[in-house]
Amino acid sequence: MLTSQAQAGSIAVVGSINVDLIAHVRRHPRPGETLHGSGGQTLPGGKGANQAVAAARLGGTVAMVGAIGTDAHASVGLSGLQAAGVDLSQVREVEGPTGLAIVTVAQDGENSIVVIPGANSSMDAGRVSAAGEMISRAAIVVCQGEIPRSGIEALPSLITGRFLHNPAPVMELDPAVLRASDPLVVNEHEAALVLAQLRPGAGSGASMPDAPDEIIRALREAGIASVVLTLGAQGSLVADEDGVHRVPAAHIDAVDTTGAGDAFIGALAMGLARGDALLAAARLASRVGAFAATGPGAQPSYPGIGDPLPELDDPAGPAGADHAPGARRTSTPG
Ligand code: ADP
Repeated sequence: MLTSQAQAGSIAVVGSINVDLIAHVRRHPRPGETLHGSGGQTLPGGKGANQAVAAARLGGTVAMVGAIGTDAHASVGLSGLQAAGVDLSQVREVEGPTGLAIVTVAQDGENSIVVIPGANSSMDAGRVSAAGEMISRAAIVVCQGEIPRSGIEALPSLITGRFLHNPAPVMELDPAVLRASDPLVVNEHEAALVLAQLRPGAGSGASMPDAPDEIIRALREAGIASVVLTLGAQGSLVADEDGVHRVPAAHIDAVDTTGAGDAFIGALAMGLARGDALLAAARLASRVGAFAATGPGAQPSYPGIGDPLPELDDPAGPAGADHAPGARRTSTPG
């Protein structure tokens, strides 16, 4: 069934491996102030690792190209990847700390986050090229913005499959690298920053579109073959040579949307790797992203094969587009 389909094409995720250190506080401390908090757990995170775990848990054949440090956090950072069966043969240990995100969550739900890249900083062009064989073998290569610019810019010349590019956080990149994305996956904020890079001189003010369908058309017109624009609880838009399509969200009671975007991207990669069209893969991703928002944390909230995924809020019905792994028809995910 699904597992063998997923093996039709492998996925390489080139990106960050972090540990998230969570502190719960009543309110955020003021500069110079010390407050008591609770929490203190360390959880596996990083956009790269999250997306790799999401794809592997759904049955994808996934390899991680990344780096961990020589500290005690390294084993935590790898734990979710190991449990999901991700190939770690291209994860290098480098002297120094593992990437760390210090997340402070206030009672009103507002987060403040400090990210220390640590070992992720070693993922430069030389390191990415050293994994060139694995990258060129992959049907889908997934990358985010949590490794150095030179590492990302080394990718297009190595990739023979599709480049699923999630430039988050957005950094200045060679426009040719942005245009190699197929698909580019961005939220509205990231889309505006990418568009500003692709249309230098157009200015960032009045000439920037702000309706989602205008934004996605502008990205296509700027030379990107396919784009997925995520809109949180509003779902997403997909654009390619077949036009612009709306993908509804699933109605869920959101508990914690941390890592929902990464779950969406991991599922999108898995769908594309098994041969789904982009729209069908985005419909699966929408259900998986919603599932992830119903549980706390990032990786622990991701569905496995057989977990019942919530249905899309789609009055016209799924139109044959859904191929959710083991999904059963239900609106209340476990
Ligand atoms: P990011 O966190 O990168 O900004 P989004 O918040 O747009 O990403 O979420 C990515 C996708 O996950 C959305 O397009 C949607 O399909 C799904 N999703 C996120 N939050 C919710 C939610 N509250 N309800 C239903 N689906 C959601």
